[in-house]
Amino acid sequence: MSRIVGIDLGTTNSLVAIVDSGIPYVIADAEGRRLTPSVVHVPGPDATPVIGHPANRVRLLKPAETVYSVKRFMGRRGSDIAREEMLVTYPVQGTGSGPVTIQLHGRAWTPEEVSAEILRKLKADAELSLGELISRAVITVPAYFNDAQRNATIRAGELAGLTVERIVNEPTAAALAYGLDKLRDKARIAVYDLGGGTFDLSILELNQGVFQVLSTHGDTRLGGDDLDRRVVDHLCREIQQAGGPVLSPTASDPTILPMLSRVREAAEHAKIRLSSESETEIALPFLTPAFSFSTRLSRARLEELTHAIIERTRAHCLRSLADAKLEASALDQVILVGGQTRMPLVRRKVSEWFGCAEFEETRGDLRLGDDFHKAKGPQLNTSVNPDEAVALGAAIQGEILAGGFRNLLLLDVTPLSLGIETFGGLMNVIIPRNTTIPVKAGELFTTAVDNQRSMLIHVLQGERERAMDNWSLGRFELEFEAAPKGVPRVGVQFEIDANGILHVLARDVKTGHQKVVQMKSAVDVDDADVQKMVEESVANAFDDLRARQWIEAKLRAGETLIATRKTMAEYDSELDPDYRQQLHAALDEVESVLSLENPKTKTGDPARLKGATAQLDEVTKPLAEYAMDKVMEAMLRKKGVL
Ligand code: AMP
Repeated sequence: MSRIVGIDLGTTNSLVAIVDSGIPYVIADAEGRRLTPSVVHVPGPDATPVIGHPANRVRLLKPAETVYSVKRFMGRRGSDIAREEMLVTYPVQGTGSGPVTIQLHGRAWTPEEVSAEILRKLKADAELSLGELISRAVITVPAYFNDAQRNATIRAGELAGLTVERIVNEPTAAALAYGLDKLRDKARIAVYDLGGGTFDLSILELNQGVFQVLSTHGDTRLGGDDLDRRVVDHLCREIQQAGGPVLSPTASDPTILPMLSRVREAAEHAKIRLSSESETEIALPFLTPAFSFSTRLSRARLEELTHAIIERTRAHCLRSLADAKLEASALDQVILVGGQTRMPLVRRKVSEWFGCAEFEETRGDLRLGDDFHKAKGPQLNTSVNPDEAVALGAAIQGEILAGGFRNLLLLDVTPLSLGIETFGGLMNVIIPRNTTIPVKAGELFTTAVDNQRSMLIHVLQGERERAMDNWSLGRFELEFEAAPKGVPRVGVQFEIDANGILHVLARDVKTGHQKVVQMKSAVDVDDADVQKMVEESVANAFDDLRARQWIEAKLRAGETLIATRKTMAEYDSELDPDYRQQLHAALDEVESVLSLENPKTKTGDPARLKGATAQLDEVTKPLAEYAMDKVMEAMLRKKGVL
């Protein structure tokens, strides 16, 4: 089964992520960059499209041939699109119920085709990085996307050669990345997502592992780009005041565009730097051959220039809460998604609006659901990289669909030990608990009784010493030729495949005759049952150990009794009466300790039994020596030596 990647197909940037050995991570391109601008440049009629960073670089130089924010047109009809939305720098067409198309070098592209180019690039990056073909993906969409928009996203995936295993809502994916599905049976979460070009606030309710979007509100034309524009305006004014060229952000003059492109880039970089610095330098050397520009911008000034834009998100937050019929204090967490939420002003504002407590210190899953904390309002959770959360969540969803993460508590390990029943009803562990799967392990077993013709393979799961205290997964019999005890060799191998299914193989080593039996899933065990089993094994550890010691002592005592009786019967007439009495006393002691076995618990006193058996061994030593001498004598006589 091939792996399933998670893709955040964003308006501004797109990312691809995967779960590897239980850990989700974003896959970088060949240059080590994890964010791919959702920009496609088509250089000519038959030219191969340029995607991502190189396309973004020519965006201002070749505005009519470079498509950005195509997500806005996905699954839309001509009549759906507002005039304002048509005002992109590339030619968009569409009327009435007709499809929306983009004219590039005389060819009409559908938004799906343009998106497919981005997906193809992400697929290729993932294949290069992972060294394997990728054909399956989970793709995220905004919660407000309708059926047509979702279907268009699936079509884009198919055009890129991907089977879209699932379309997941972006806020749900973000919550998955934050691990919020594991924390409580019921929780309410707000997802504040401010990206490059869009904003939305979704309220989710988690109910026993399933997320439901209670409400979502937003603005598809509000994001980091708007902040950049404010900074660009500010810089253009300063450039003009410093005697530089007159730059109008809406200019179409071809000599102005490259300059504006540089100003725009410098503005965004300064904005990003000001998330971690309080002041920054902006330098634009040789803006024209005769003019170089440099200035300083403080975080306070940036906040002055942009706070009105951030304030615009507040109304959407309030509306979302009202739609979900919730007060902010009823929320457990507010999580931040989208690169723009790294801005300290955004964090401060969101924290203030939602009445979040001590947002500076809160991290991860601290105190979620704690009543004391809830009284103080929701927690602002910023523990996941905000521009990667959605892609990571999509990858986690992909892993779940691929059969990983079956059990949130125990991912891909055996929850309990697996083994078979052996002599005396003991559990013989073959795969210990917490072993990573897939796994293969085996052992050789033999018979305890003469002339046994088959061996019963009783497969057990659990942590207890005795077979009867563990769970029985199944049993089957392997036949072989009759032979004295200890001679037959039966190899038993356990294999747990990637799906958690246990295959048990038993093979008669002599003839190669074998049976393979598939048991039920060895991993799909209820968490509560696992916990109970482990707790019981701890609570009964002493009794279990005693039971094992008793069974082992009993097996040893049984063997000694049989051997002693056999030898005594053979040499009875030659035995000294006192010595015979000593032997009987030692035999009686072993038998009397055995008879003290508690019929209910099937255990006795292992130390006493071991002592009695050792005493019997000691007493039988002269008999054993005598028997040995007799055997030697008979042999030598036979050979004519004596
Ligand atoms: P996204 O659509 O989630 O990729 O978000 C992209 C937006 O986040 C762009 O406007 C970026 O300029 C902005 N952004 C990324 N990193 C930061 C940062 N550290 N501080 C402020 N804004 C950022």
